[in-house]
Amino acid sequence: MLPPGSVIGIVGGGQLGRMIALAAARLGYRCHILAPEPDSPAAQVTSLATVAPYGDAAALERFAASVDVVTMEFENLPVEALATLARARPVHPSPSVLAICQNRREEKAFLDRIGVPIAPWAVVDDAGSLERVLAGLGRPAILKTARLGYDGKGQVRIEAGAALDEARAAATAAPCVLEGWIDFAREISVITARGRDGAKASYVPVENRHRDQILVQTIAPAPIPADLAGQAQALAEKIAAELDLVGLLAVEMFVTRERRLLVNELAPRPHNSGHWTIDACAVSQFEQLVRAVCGLPLGDAGRFADAVMDNLLGIEVERWLTILAEPGARLHLYGKGDVRPGRKLGHVTRLVRRG
Ligand code: AMP
Repeated sequence: MLPPGSVIGIVGGGQLGRMIALAAARLGYRCHILAPEPDSPAAQVTSLATVAPYGDAAALERFAASVDVVTMEFENLPVEALATLARARPVHPSPSVLAICQNRREEKAFLDRIGVPIAPWAVVDDAGSLERVLAGLGRPAILKTARLGYDGKGQVRIEAGAALDEARAAATAAPCVLEGWIDFAREISVITARGRDGAKASYVPVENRHRDQILVQTIAPAPIPADLAGQAQALAEKIAAELDLVGLLAVEMFVTRERRLLVNELAPRPHNSGHWTIDACAVSQFEQLVRAVCGLPLGDAGRFADAVMDNLLGIEVERWLTILAEPGARLHLYGKGDVRPGRKLGHVTRLVRRG
């Protein structure tokens, strides 16, 4: 067990890293941020920061030597960087978990192998395989790059009767997967924490609403029947156990119109759809991560209030003063200077008191 006073290395400098560092500080831990950009949102709240590209082996070695354990706030790290870190210090989640979760092909093959239901899918390597696979899966379908896709980036929806030019170009540019289109009733996610000893703690499933494939709102809990909520939590816990993960796993799922659950995506880290836990739960997703990677007992994932979380994207952040004046609204700003359309600059959580 790493006691308070130990140093947690966080790879990545975004808002997730910032909120991990704030939760760690509350428990008396220090955090050291490794990020390529100076003055990152995470580095703003810590005294220890290394500014270096993720491929800088010497910087990675120095960083690893100065921390007690390493975690990360995003999964798209070069595998060699992870290997360098893992030679020096415990890395949670492990490089093998990241290798699965940073590649949709690996992720889907893994989920198939462990018997978790997902949308029909197939590998697409080039324009020729796109047409073959599309003929099998049918339209509409969605083409996704195997790697480096987030917030809908690297995705092409293929409608019935539409030309294939854009999809062909995407399939030629990078390895992809093609997925059958799911006409879902809702999108939900479950965040589950898993300790070094296999202990688990899951938050209630939440409903996620997207605009232009970017999360705009999370409703906690998701308005779904209790048995479905239980199934969703059990699925997330099964996946975390099969990955032998230490840390957090966010599992995005579709609820189909027939009330079936299909897993869409895994993220082995804190997730935007868990930000509400800071304000509505005794132990937030960020604190659970700190507990898990430091070998502490996990905390209670129960909530004392229902909540609605809205992201502040781009110029929406200009409403900050109005939100501050709103009774019960909890404002979180990430310290990002550059206001670009769709950029996540903050969020607001509104508690919905029960009974
Ligand atoms: P992803 O990057 O895989 O999380 O996809 C981003 C968003 O695109 C999801 O949250 C869904 O709203 C939508 N989406 C992705 N895959 C599918 C699918 N197979 N069927 C319907 N909608 C999808």
